[in-house]
Amino acid sequence: MSAATMDLKERLLQELEETLAEIARLEKRLEGKGDYGLGTGDPNIYEWEMCLALKQRAENKARSLQIALRKAEQGDYGICEVCGQQIDPARLAILPETKRCIQCAQKR
Ligand SMILES: [Zn+2]
Repeated sequence: MSAATMDLKERLLQELEETLAEIARLEKRLEGKGDYGLGTGDPNIYEWEMCLALKQRAENKARSLQIALRKAEQGDYGICEVCGQQIDPARLAILPETKRCIQCAQKR
């Protein structure tokens, strides 16, 4: 395993850890729903819904990161799932969990 792959795995693991910590944080905040009551127009409800949306996004990201980690272990990380080309390292640096190259991502 090359040094670059090690760095990459560490980076993915760190990102995954942060994402899981964020999910835990959001779950704590979501527990408070019972206190708000269910009156319409309660601003707390909007905040609760925002937390829920953030949590769902974080969960998706955690899943993608886990897939990326598995790929890193198999040595085929950074390959576009659509066209099979190598994904630009600059793109991976910003979006380590991405599964598509910039061209394929833009086609959607
Ligand atoms: Zn592609």
